[in-house]
Amino acid sequence: MTDIAALKARLPDIRIEDHPTLVRQKSRDFFWYSPVLKRELDHVTGDCVVFVKSTDDVVATLAACYALDIPVTPRGTGTGNYGQAMPLSRGAVLDLSFMDKIVSIEPGVLVAEAGAVMAEIDKQTQADSGQELRLHPSTAKTATIGGFVAGGSGGVGSITWGGLRDWGNVTRLKVVTMEASPRILDLTGEDLHKVSHAYGTNGIITEVEMPLTTAFKWIDVIVGFDTLAEAAAFANETGEADGILKKQLAVVAAPAAHDYFNRHRRWIPRDKHVVCAMIAPQNYDAFLTITRRRRGAQLLFSTSDMSEADRKGLPDIYELGWNHTTLRALKIDPAITYLQTLYPFPNQLELVSKIHAVFGDEVVAHLEFVRFDGKITCFGLPLVKFTTEARLEEIIRIHEDMGAPVFNPHRYTLEEGGMKQTDEAQLAFKREADPKGLLNPGKMIAWDDPDYDYSSNRTYLFRGMQMEV
Ligand code: FAD
Repeated sequence: MTDIAALKARLPDIRIEDHPTLVRQKSRDFFWYSPVLKRELDHVTGDCVVFVKSTDDVVATLAACYALDIPVTPRGTGTGNYGQAMPLSRGAVLDLSFMDKIVSIEPGVLVAEAGAVMAEIDKQTQADSGQELRLHPSTAKTATIGGFVAGGSGGVGSITWGGLRDWGNVTRLKVVTMEASPRILDLTGEDLHKVSHAYGTNGIITEVEMPLTTAFKWIDVIVGFDTLAEAAAFANETGEADGILKKQLAVVAAPAAHDYFNRHRRWIPRDKHVVCAMIAPQNYDAFLTITRRRRGAQLLFSTSDMSEADRKGLPDIYELGWNHTTLRALKIDPAITYLQTLYPFPNQLELVSKIHAVFGDEVVAHLEFVRFDGKITCFGLPLVKFTTEARLEEIIRIHEDMGAPVFNPHRYTLEEGGMKQTDEAQLAFKREADPKGLLNPGKMIAWDDPDYDYSSNRTYLFRGMQMEV
């Protein structure tokens, strides 16, 4: 049981809240996108929330929690999707959202505290020197940069820059360890992979250094097609057109774009499969040229000739992409859920057509084009009409049997949501930096059960998961 009084006594200068309503609110993320996680995690709550304002506060909090054996689950703003920031063993939620200062902006390099919100970072780097982050999630307006590095994978910008764990997209992380005397480490190079996308299971990130690139007034466009195959082929061609700078490139099948994109609906006929893209203004003319040359392509929407007044109330096009597509679908049809798949290069277009022919309306195509190891390919975040958990498992199995790996968004562990194998570097670093296993318990299977058999296809259930509220 968490000794909150003892924790408060050790940390007199740090705000600690234990009101159950606030603690429950800060113990949740967007896990409910998954009907499976909704069933498994809805009861989860911590015992208190610790609001830190500096690296020194983090060091003091971790030292106190180590001494008192209190589990600590870090949290940015809780926009993750897989219960990543949910405290499965109760204890303290470590809220980093007040560590939101920008430390420095140099040509090509940003340093920010972990709790800085990414859209706010972009505003400041644009005003400072016409620069912006290479990558951000579609939740940039609310998500923190530390939460992105610890829990995200890529997103807006990945069509040009690749994923978050690709070398060069994060250049330094300041990390605090969970020990009797917590250490402050500056990780660079190979060491970055020890904590990036580790869900905060082996260190608390307090500062992030990331590259910046030139900021543009990106043009949002929607191009319509009669078939999914034509839309996917055009997106692939646009992705491969190296001279055309773009920041976002997605395909959404009919009738989902019309049915779920409320504010853009008037531009999208119900029978059109759409490509949604962000194009650099200097390359817009080239983009129109390839659009005109593509048979059947119809430019449905463009912000190039829209006034600010006309754009008012319209979300940015990236807020129709990534998991915002799922969010918009869920708002209209709560029975929708989703998957995360990869259509590996070089057969991505063929695989998309084959898979969607199998499922028909039960699995609606949503593709996000990315540059992955220098090759254009696409991830899928298809919209799934949920019926039963057994059918969902079957849909996943069919995808994998057909050659599309699934990063299962209906699991809360790192391994099951990822490559279904132990990440030895992350595990070794956890042994060193969190010897008592107090950081975000239950999220790294390899720590709890080194012999776990990932091929068994059973769902891992964390033993310590508290079941009563
Ligand atoms: P949180 O949800 O608070 O935390 C995420 C994980 O990181 C948790 O495991 C938490 O314990 C850990 N953590 C947080 N801060 C720290 C820290 N300082 N040190 C150590 N560990 C920490 N993700 C993408 O990658 N790309 C997308 O395009 C994208 N689109 C999304 C769209 C929607 C509508 C939604 C709901 C989610 C989307 N996500 C996406 C997931 C999520 O929004 C992002 O990963 C986001 O960057 C998480 O930031 P956060 O501050 O909300 O982190």
